[in-house]
Amino acid sequence: MKAARDWSVRHAKGLHKLYEVLAWTLHLFDPVLRRIGYERLDKPFARVEGLIKGFLFDSQSCGQCTLGSTGMACPMNCPKTLRNGPCGGVRQNGGCEIKPEMTCVWVKAWEGSQQMGEAESGLQVIQLPVDTRLKGHSSWLEALKARPETSA
Ligand code: SF4
Repeated sequence: MKAARDWSVRHAKGLHKLYEVLAWTLHLFDPVLRRIGYERLDKPFARVEGLIKGFLFDSQSCGQCTLGSTGMACPMNCPKTLRNGPCGGVRQNGGCEIKPEMTCVWVKAWEGSQQMGEAESGLQVIQLPVDTRLKGHSSWLEALKARPETSA
């Protein structure tokens, strides 16, 4: 939903803080989650994540969330699904080359990054190409898996 998506970019700072709290909480419970099994938890986590992020960010559930680096704007809403944008076709008014009625996702990412007080730092992180095998999986759990194991 465009209105919710725009609201999220305008409130990127607060939402990013919430995200950090969530990441910290998940990390705290990581030993328990590991014991239950990431595979077993993936479906319910992905469902909850899809509902929340789908509503707030129009998340496309790619399974490799970059919201924290892209001003809480989901780059998968770019019609070219560019992970390191923008392309060269952004219109003078900030509109998307492919969908002129939509503001370029990367213009929104810039606005959100400014809200977060990280106008350039997050956006300068070069994102890896999307791994389509992770689509529909929980990116929260994927981020946990990538962290070093904590002791129980
Ligand atoms: S103008 Fe922006 S949103 Fe549109 S295709 Fe290019 S990078 Fe993607």
